[in-house]
Amino acid sequence: MTAALTTPALHRPRRKVAIIGAGPGGLAAAMMLAASGAKVTVYEKDEVVGGRTRTLTSPQGYSFDLGPTFFLYPRILKEIFSRCGADLEQEVDLRRLDPQYRLIFEQGGTFQQLDASANIARMEAEIARFSPEDAKGLRPYMEENRAKLAAFKPVLERAFTTAADMMRPDMLKALPLMKPWSTVDRDLARHFRDPRVRLAFSFQTKYLGMSPFKCPALFTILSFLEYEHGVFHPIGGCGAVSGAMARVAERMGADFRLNTPVDRIAFEGKRARGVEVGGTRHDYDAVVVNADFAHAIPKLIPDHLRRGWKDKKIGKARYSCSTFMLYLGLDIPLPNVAHHNVILSEQYRENIGQIENGEIPEIPSLYVQNAGVTDPTLAPPGHSALYMLVPVPNLIKQPNWAAQSARFREVALDRLKVLGLGDIRKHIKYERIVAPQDWESDFAVGYGATFNLSHELPQMLLFRPGNRFRDVEGVYLVGGGTHPGSGLPVIYEGARITTSLLAEDLGLSGASSLPVPGGQLATATPAEA
Ligand SMILES: Cc1cc2nc3c(=O)[nH]c(=O)nc-3n(C[C@H](O)[C@H](O)[C@H](O)COP(=O)(O)OP(=O)(O)OC[C@H]3O[C@@H](n4cnc5c(N)ncnc54)[C@H](O)[C@@H]3O)c2cc1C
Repeated sequence: MTAALTTPALHRPRRKVAIIGAGPGGLAAAMMLAASGAKVTVYEKDEVVGGRTRTLTSPQGYSFDLGPTFFLYPRILKEIFSRCGADLEQEVDLRRLDPQYRLIFEQGGTFQQLDASANIARMEAEIARFSPEDAKGLRPYMEENRAKLAAFKPVLERAFTTAADMMRPDMLKALPLMKPWSTVDRDLARHFRDPRVRLAFSFQTKYLGMSPFKCPALFTILSFLEYEHGVFHPIGGCGAVSGAMARVAERMGADFRLNTPVDRIAFEGKRARGVEVGGTRHDYDAVVVNADFAHAIPKLIPDHLRRGWKDKKIGKARYSCSTFMLYLGLDIPLPNVAHHNVILSEQYRENIGQIENGEIPEIPSLYVQNAGVTDPTLAPPGHSALYMLVPVPNLIKQPNWAAQSARFREVALDRLKVLGLGDIRKHIKYERIVAPQDWESDFAVGYGATFNLSHELPQMLLFRPGNRFRDVEGVYLVGGGTHPGSGLPVIYEGARITTSLLAEDLGLSGASSLPVPGGQLATATPAEA
């Protein structure tokens, strides 16, 4: 250890990295880069961290997650925390949910409920209530997807920087399981004949903002991840996870500048040299962009410097759906409404077609979260913080959202009858709407496409904007718009890929700054160097 401290590499000036955006991707990158010895500055345009994974609070004492509410596969974030000498479970109180969610199928004016459980015997019994034969499909489905995830893990954990990466042995091994010709719904039909049972294992494609009838078959692993590794609720909501990440990154020496939008990246030729903020240039060795790709890249990097992702191509890319959100503070408890409720309209398939064609569904499928049944911190005693998410067309498909919001609020509130709630309007003490145009204007989400560039094969792996952004030098991407894609565990994994490329490019070893538990660093700390 003493010998290592005398090596010339350790006397090099600290490498400086700017991160644009404190969403999950930016926060994970800040943690890992600071742990590797870089001097990290995070610029965030808003007054809070977390991006789409932030907490909204109301003066009456209600708290809501703005976006993510399903916390899946904590393993990746756990590893990132431990790389910083911290313990995720000590920083955030994670509760595994069982049942993990309630599905409500509407049929001819009646409703049928399925409480999804990771307990296989219990889940078989639930499936059998819909289709006894399909219950036999659960174990083979689990086994097959266990093998599929194992085959794809190496592919999803590495970068795709050149065409040769598409031909590497891990990719060739995984390819037959990928079934590029098939979709999630079609693949599930081999195990489950009842379309409602298939929906129970395929609605998760909505996490990517995609239709199970179009989403590549690879993504049957999404529901598998839930049954195998659990659905968690972080006490305080997923926003609490973002808060913990910022806390640990700060402990590692990262400097957070909130309320500080970056205007553009400063270039010399094609090489990024820093960022421009409020007319002042700040120099950096590398720049990591976490801001939403479609929204930010046209503003941050001049079109003429980009050869692969020009404005025209960004404008023509395919994007996920958007979401119409209602956050409601109610003066009543809702003990009979489950934590997560997925309401699948009889017109589920039509709804998807409508969303793709830019039509606003009149009887939409929707998701309602009543986290108060698990977490008392989200509302005053006797009250509830209700979160409603309705998938709707993005602003490319339906540019007239501003004129539709008030009417659609009524459509959405009327749908709560499915939960046996009656008319809750008189109990609303706090209300906030986030409609597609608000995602774009207030939260910097391009085209209001809440789940980023869609995850079709022509926009995945090598064809997605690269972790080391190939168009220019010294710019790196993290977040749902880069490889491997959207969704929290995937974004954390993407940040891991990006930071290891960056560490390689800047010669960051990280070895001299390995932390010990408790946030104290073993040797020279990034904060003090
Ligand atoms: C409604 C909704 C529900 C979701 N549900 C789930 C779920 O249940 N589970 C799950 O795993 N995933 C879910 N997701 C998907 C995904 O996990 C989140 O959207 C996630 O927050 C995306 O993270 P990100 O790192 O891409 O960036 P973002 O969260 O978009 O953060 C980007 C940050 O960059 C900042 N920024 C933008 N421009 C600038 C600038 N010029 N200068 C400085 N800062 C800037 C923004 O203010 C923002 O803080 C959901 C998403 C939404 C919208």
